[in-house]
Order: sequence, then C-alpha cells, then structure tokens
Amino acid sequence: MEEEHFDFVVVGGGHNGTTIAAYLSRCGHSVCVLEARPECGGGQENTEARPGFRIDPHATYLYGAAAPGFEQLELWRYGFRQVYYPSMAGLATLDGKAANLGGRFTPGLAEESLRAIGVEPAGGGEIFQTLGPAAIKELLRALFWTPPHPPDADVEPGDQPWWQVFRKHLGGVYSDRLTEMSYVDFLDETVPWEPMRAFAAFGAWYCGAHPAWDGMLLQSLGGTLLYSYSSGSPRGGIHTYAHSIIRAALAKGTRILTNAPVGEIIVRNGRAVGVRLDDDAAFPEKTIWADKAVISAVDVQRTFLDLVGRQHFDAGFAQRVSDISLKGGSLYVLSVICRELPRYHGREEWFPEEVYPSCVITPVDSMENFNAQTRDAYSFKRMPDKLTPEHLTMMVCTHDVYDPTRCPEGYHVLSPIYLECPPPEYDVTGPEGWNRRKDEVTKAALTLLGEVAPNMRGANIVEVFVNTPLDSEFRNAGMTGGNWYAARQDADQWASNRPLEELSRYRTPIENLYMCHQTMHPGGLCLMAVPYNLMHILIDDGLVEPGSWWYPSPWYMNDRGSVAGAAS
Ligand SMILES: Cc1cc2nc3c(=O)[nH]c(=O)nc-3n(C[C@H](O)[C@H](O)[C@H](O)COP(=O)(O)OP(=O)(O)OC[C@H]3O[C@@H](n4cnc5c(N)ncnc54)[C@H](O)[C@@H]3O)c2cc1C
Repeated sequence: MEEEHFDFVVVGGGHNGTTIAAYLSRCGHSVCVLEARPECGGGQENTEARPGFRIDPHATYLYGAAAPGFEQLELWRYGFRQVYYPSMAGLATLDGKAANLGGRFTPGLAEESLRAIGVEPAGGGEIFQTLGPAAIKELLRALFWTPPHPPDADVEPGDQPWWQVFRKHLGGVYSDRLTEMSYVDFLDETVPWEPMRAFAAFGAWYCGAHPAWDGMLLQSLGGTLLYSYSSGSPRGGIHTYAHSIIRAALAKGTRILTNAPVGEIIVRNGRAVGVRLDDDAAFPEKTIWADKAVISAVDVQRTFLDLVGRQHFDAGFAQRVSDISLKGGSLYVLSVICRELPRYHGREEWFPEEVYPSCVITPVDSMENFNAQTRDAYSFKRMPDKLTPEHLTMMVCTHDVYDPTRCPEGYHVLSPIYLECPPPEYDVTGPEGWNRRKDEVTKAALTLLGEVAPNMRGANIVEVFVNTPLDSEFRNAGMTGGNWYAARQDADQWASNRPLEELSRYRTPIENLYMCHQTMHPGGLCLMAVPYNLMHILIDDGLVEPGSWWYPSPWYMNDRGSVAGAAS
C-alpha cells in the first residue's frame, strides 16, 4: 500500500485545527486533519438532546466577528450565516430589579431600562461607547489577532499593541496606571451602581481573563468587547460555524479523517516528520507523513507528554509543560426546555420578544456574589457547602428568540445556562466533586431561577439537561477540565508568556512541530485567532506563501524585532 504524504498534518479537528487547515489549503498545500471523534468541531458543538431541540454543551456565542478569517477564508461562501441580536444582555437581582441592557443595535435601551428602575446609568462602559466599531475592531485585533512579540523583545506594557490602540483612540483617558489595573479596580472607580459592577465582572469572567487579575484590565474587558462587537451567534448554533470552516478547508482540498485518534507524533533527529494513528483508528494507513510540518491542535500537555514523548526533549521542559496551570474557566452547563421565556420579576415591558436579552446574568445583587464565586473556584477549589444564591450566579442564554432553528414553535430552549466552577482536576474533593452533587446543583440553580423569574416553575419546565466540566472532558479529550480557555489567562499566561515563553510563538523545541490550540495565545473562544497568528510564523519560517488575500497584523513583530505595520 502506498504511504500517505501531505505537506501538513494537523492533529485535532477542533476549531483551531480545522481553521489552520483551511488557511494552509488556501495557500495551495496538501493538508490532512486527523480527528479522534466521529465529528470535527471540538468545543464548537451542538447536540439535539431531544429531537428538534438544539442545545449548546460548550461554546455558544460568536465572539470572533473582528477576525480576519471571515474575509480571508471567505466563510460566507461556505454557509456561514450570523444572526444579529437586537439585545445582547440583561441583569436581574434577587431584590426585584431587572434591566434590559440592549446591545450594539439598540442604543439608548439600557439607559431607558435602568432609569425605569431608578438607576442613573453611568459607568466605565461609556468610555468605550465613544469608540466606533472601526476603533473597537482595531483594539480587538491588537489584543487577539496579533502574534505575541518575541519573548526577548524589550517592550514596555504601555507599548503593547493593545495599549497603543487604546492611546490612539482614548489618549485623554490613558495613564500608565491602567496597564497595571484589574478590571475590578476599574469598575470600582467608574461604575457607581453595585449590581452593574457585579454584572460587568461576571460578564467579563464568562468571556475573558478573570476580572480580578492585575494588569489584565483590557484583556478582561476585551472578552466582553468581543461579545458585544459580534452581537449574536451563527444561525443554527455554533456548530454551523465549524461547518463553514470545514467546508472552506474541504473546498481547497484538505483531507479530513474522523475516528482517527493520533497516538504518536513521530520525531526523528529532533524533527517532526509525521504521525502514527492509534490501532483502532478508522483508516487503513496508520502512519501519515508530513513533508513540511506537523501542527498540533490539541492541548499542550497532551501534545508533549503523550504524543511526542519525553525522550525527545529535556527534563526541564517536560516539567515546565506539566506545571502549566489549567486553573479556572470551567463552566457547569444546564440546558432547559420550557414553554415560556423567563419573565424576570414579571417586568415584561422591558423584555418583549423583539428585544429580549439573549442572555441575562442573575442574581447580581452585590460584588459579594462575585467574590464568593471567585473564592469557590480559585481559593477553596470546590463546590460551596451551601448552594445559596451568592454562590450561584448564572448566565441564562436564550438564542431561540432570534433563531427559530433552535427549537420547535411553542417552546424555548434556555441553553446554555452557565455557572462558574473549578476544573475537576483542581477540585479538592476529587475530580468527581461537582458530578457527585449534580442533582443538588441543578435543583438549586432552578430554584433560584424561579425566584428571579417566577414563571420558571412547574409545568413551564419541560426538560433539563446537564453538562458538567467532567462531562465536557469525556466528550472531548482535548478539553481538559472542561476549561474554556485551556490555561488561565492571567499576566503569566498571556502573550509572550503563554503557555511558556519558548512556545509562545507557536514554535516548539521540536523542529517542524507547531502548536495551534487554545492553550496558546490568545487562549479560548472560537476566534480563528490562534491559526491566524500561527500563519505569520509559518510565513516567516518559509513554509507557506499566501496569495494576495492574506494580510498580516500591523503590529506583528518578527524575530529580528521589526514591526511591519504602521501602528501609531
Ligand atoms: C462550557 C464552555 C463554554 C464555551 N463558550 C464559548 C462561547 O460561547 N464562544 C466561543 O467562541 N467559545 C466558547 N468556548 C471555548 C471554545 O469552545 C474553545 O476555546 C474552542 O473549542 C477551542 O478550540 P481548539 O481547537 O483549541 O480545541 P478543541 O475544540 O478542544 O479541539 C481539539 C480537538 O482535538 C481532538 N483531539 C484530542 N486529542 C486528539 C488526538 N490524540 N488525535 C486526534 N484528535 C484529537 C478533540 O477531539 C477535539 O476535536 C466554551 C468552552 C466551554 C468548555
């Protein structure tokens, strides 16, 4: 039988693996993607837990609207359709307050809704409201769609690309102090109404770097800016986005093999030359050769400790890889089929279907809710003793209001409902911690939902599905700890520090082995950012030569320290 040779072999057909395959095949290369599961997409998954009802066990919102990938891969030609939501978010407190905070397409709604409950709208968000979409896109591209600078480049924090853009547009607001602050510090100084502070802190926690981490103000806020800039989700659910990427790759000749778990990345003389599939892989050839490079789109620990093997690098590197922290970012996910949408405190006038918030964060009575949950997830690393409301703030999503493909008429699907929790591997009561108390958590969360939205009780609830972080890990071996950003996004694991200095530019100690997974900068979310950033490195290494459709990040610093673009 002939041996299989491709220019590039990609291990893992999740969001990042399929996207880099689409990029490489657009450059004219032969590419083979090997995916362990029967279906590609990884965390970009929808399931029909009940026929006709589409739920989101992991990813839910499109955050990546500012991605160059939409244009460069021409995803609209391959079926990508976005549903824009008139209202993105709302909040509800236990003491009877509920507000519809609208979104990019409903200016003024938040102010009106807040004034109706006696709250004078004021806050840090106003600073960013002065920025138009073009400036926000520029800021987001500087944060997410720019490869980290070479780790030995001597760059002041204020000169990092994202602060350069901030200064360009908000020079009057900028001070060096901002570069050291956390988002929580910033909210304390700029947002007077406490529930709004708690709402903003939770919103950031669900979308980006944890808001209490010092020096990560813009990165925390960046998650919520991504979310509000995108203002919606792919029609049909997040998996349809995966399909448009897969189709873009297939159209340019990528070969995708599912049921094809890779058991080994073959290294010869310090160089990655191909992969060996597990014996039970559904493919006759068990060895597939990569003439140019192997790209690992699975997590960093699995890549080096399992697939490459410790014999190919030094013990210090192996130790640093196994020390990478996967702390934080795990979400307990509920999905609820119901007949009526939640009516928060019966305030229907602020929640009509034409501007119903696509997610409501509740309860957000005080920052104590936020602090208690941060303590549970990061300090105590276990489930709270008592499942009281301050430990159970939820983000309740209702995509079907704007996307009728999600469920049959006459029903709604609240999916997902997210609750922050520690990753199972860090749970001091053992990895089964939250799973053991699944029924209890689910019951407490639903009871609380019934308190803030009294119609969410009894016959209105048709069926409930649960996906714990451990379940996420069982579904998808790459999603260690059900963690949505793989490795925490604090200053120690951001840009040139992520996940380790020597891996931060997507290169590895093994020649011709590159990384393309959410463990790398800028982390989680289906942004097409890791593959876009990796392309810069592959171009510099002389492995690919894209056509005129390609444009690099203007802030990209090459290995010699020069920046091609005109960042001001
Ligand atoms: C609860 C939750 C909520 C989230 N919400 C959002 C959201 O709203 N919006 C958003 O954009 N993102 C969200 N995310 C994050 C998003 O899902 C991830 O960032 C993204 O899926 C990571 O993509 P990836 O390609 O790096 O990894 P993965 O999606 O994990 O893909 C890795 C792939 O590699 C495969 N694999 C593993 N080992 C092997 C092997 N040995 N051989 C072959 N294949 C292998 C896996 O099966 C998997 O398909 C969420 C994640 C979670 C857990």
